[in-house]
Parts: sequence; structure tokens; C-alpha cells
Amino acid sequence: MEEDLTKYEWMAQLSPFNTVFQAEILSIQEACLWASKAIQQIKAHVEYSGNEAADVLAKKATQEGIPTFIPAPRNHIKSLLQKESIIRWQKDWDNGETCRSVHNVLPKIKTTPTPWQRPEIMFVTGHGPFPTYLKRFNIRSSDSCGCGNLGNPLHYAISCLFTTSYHLTKQSADLEPLWWKRVMNNNNSRAKIRKLIHFIAENETLLFPKDGDNN
Ligand SMILES: [Zn+2]
Repeated sequence: MEEDLTKYEWMAQLSPFNTVFQAEILSIQEACLWASKAIQQIKAHVEYSGNEAADVLAKKATQEGIPTFIPAPRNHIKSLLQKESIIRWQKDWDNGETCRSVHNVLPKIKTTPTPWQRPEIMFVTGHGPFPTYLKRFNIRSSDSCGCGNLGNPLHYAISCLFTTSYHLTKQSADLEPLWWKRVMNNNNSRAKIRKLIHFIAENETLLFPKDGDNN
């Protein structure tokens, strides 16, 4: 505009992912190109102010504007990639085969760490001082507890005679996956688990005496 006269008008259509900053820069670029060529295309449009004229053109551009090919802004691509990787990660987690005990308790992936401490992680993953784990890694030849039953985390938490003072309650009717969820999401239960794991770790030799086979 120059003294209420439209000197030049131009419009273009951007993609939905382009930002208003890209639109501003594009129009400034076009204005500079026009000014540098010093083309005099004087049109009289006295009834419009510069801003109104720009609004009218912007609306028109959504229908008739020449298409532009301005790349998406970096942060737009970053957020797309972030969303996509979260979707893929969740899929992998849902369809994976390892750590299903953890999947049961934490089905939704998230980028913030759980409030669990090391003993609780040992308990829910089974990767800790349990005969079942030690057997799997050939540290022991048997996966039995000293009491004769299968020595997995659940055994020590609810039934082993050696750990009765650390037991959590589990009604026989309680479904196991639900029990794990309840226990791992409860602060008091997790505090008990921590004590239980410490007790097991300190009393390994009493709970399940070493066997000769692999030592
Ligand atoms: Zn036992």
C-alpha cells in the first residue's frame, strides 16, 4: 500500500503444517522481490486499508493461491517423530514377549521413570536373589526354595515358611495379574516388598543352601 493505493498484491497457499512465521517471512520475501524489481503496478483500492486487503487476500489464497513448497518447520517434524515413536514403542511393548510381568503392572509406556526402587524392580521382574532366577543363569542347579517349593518372587511374598513375617495377603480367589497390579501400585505393599527382598538377599544361604553342582 502507498497512501491508500494498493501497489501490488500477491498471494500463496501454504501447507497446514507451516507456521505463521513462515507465512510472514514468505510475504516479506515476496515484497522484497517486488520492491527490488521496482515494478509499478498501481491499482486503486481506496476502500481498503492495508490490513483489510491482506485479510481478503489471505482468504482468497486458501482457494486460489499458488501452492508453495515450504518445508515443515523443524519442531513440527520433531513432534511428529515423537508421536510416531511413542506409538511404535507402545506397540512393541504390547506385542513383546519379554518382561510380561512388568507389562501387566505397567501396560502404558511413559518417558518418566516409575517410582520403584531396585528391590521392587527385582521383585516384579524376577531378576533378583530368587532360586528361579539363579537357576536360569546357572548359578544354582535347582529352582527350589529350601522349603521344597518353587522359589519365585510370589512364593516368598505369600507362602514361604521362612518369610512369614514379610508376607503380603493374597486370597486364593484373587487373580494373579490383578494381585501384582494392586501390590505394585500400593506404597505400603512396596515398602513390605523392599524389606522382603533385603531379607532374602541377606539370608540366601539359609533360605536356599548352596548346592554342590555348580560351585
Ligand atoms: Zn520357601
